[in-house]
Amino acid sequence: MRTIYLDHAATTPLDERVLEVMLPYMTENFGNANSAHHLGQQAKVKVEDAREKVAHLLNAEPAEVIFTSGGTESDNAVIKGALALQKGKSKIITSELEHHAVLHPIEMAKMQGFKTVFAEPIDCGTITAKAVADKLSDETALVSIMHVNNEIGCVNEIKEIAALCRERNIPFHSDTVQSLGKIPVDVKDLGLDFLSGSAHKIYGPKGIGIMYIRNGSRWMPWMTGGSQERRRRGGTLNVPGVLGFAKALELAHDEMEANTNHYKKLRSLLMDQLNEKLTACTYRINGNEENGVPHIINISFMDEVGRGVDGEMLLLNLDIEGICVSNGSACTSGAMEPSHVLTGIGLQDGVAKSSIRISFGKKNTEEDVRFLVEKLEGVLTRMFSLA
Ligand SMILES: *Cc1c(COP(=O)(O)O)cnc(C)c1O
Repeated sequence: MRTIYLDHAATTPLDERVLEVMLPYMTENFGNANSAHHLGQQAKVKVEDAREKVAHLLNAEPAEVIFTSGGTESDNAVIKGALALQKGKSKIITSELEHHAVLHPIEMAKMQGFKTVFAEPIDCGTITAKAVADKLSDETALVSIMHVNNEIGCVNEIKEIAALCRERNIPFHSDTVQSLGKIPVDVKDLGLDFLSGSAHKIYGPKGIGIMYIRNGSRWMPWMTGGSQERRRRGGTLNVPGVLGFAKALELAHDEMEANTNHYKKLRSLLMDQLNEKLTACTYRINGNEENGVPHIINISFMDEVGRGVDGEMLLLNLDIEGICVSNGSACTSGAMEPSHVLTGIGLQDGVAKSSIRISFGKKNTEEDVRFLVEKLEGVLTRMFSLA
């Protein structure tokens, strides 16, 4: 059976060209970049080249780029490290549509007395500058709003939000895990103080990420230990991971336009195919079609009277056909909870639970899309006839 992978917002395979760059640094060039001898120094030179490359692609200074173990660590380190120096101010502005890697550290900050204020999305799921402006106050300690939403693909008004924060001298963090390498991310143009990124969403290895910390930002290290990363993140550097990150980001930049065009084509084919071929039920697209990235599509399926399909069962049935998609549901104490993103944009639990997320990658083909819709028709027909 063929596997059709349509879950690239969850993770991507390693690009062979990335693997090639990494391999020698796992075997013969295994030095610790912190070692004084030549084997260590060879690794160190490569790491600094990689840092320069990443900084250049982000329009940052090399000293502003810190390697971490991934997006989750970066989100935690930025949020905890920025809040630690904001004792006088008590409010954190974020949105309910953030990744849990942002929401949960913010939740923990409540124990230090911080309060969370949610900026409201406009109905399709975009966080606007106005929504943030409505919540800003003298008590705001930090604003954290993601660039591209991982479940519905909406692109938020990051540049405008950053400008609002800059005017008021409020630190601004953006989780750019889903935008890096997909749409332009220029830290100076966007006006970010902090960003988080991850390699495995862009055909790089799992377990390596970055944070950008603008020079002059008030922030203190969260992970302390050795003197690595100029004492801002202790721990032996993942040298092959660092080199893989830089290569993956470089390739993503080189191929951004081609990939985007490819995803637009696949997306419009998917829309046409659903229109023409799906007779089993009705559906709705969740998220903003005009202001979204083309490779993330979130769809709810329901019958004429609005009863949603069981999204979890749909996912499993598609898996039996070899198709990998996801839904944002989380298993909490034995029961399936609907995606916090979908309920956050106002969907009823039933509709939210009837959705799947399709996220395209560069190797997906038009044939994959046709196969998906054909299988959707079969599976949904069966599911609705049993319901
Ligand atoms: C995947 C993801 C993360 C987590 O990154 P990891 O490297 O897997 O820890 C954080 N934020 C968003 C938006 C993501 O999509």
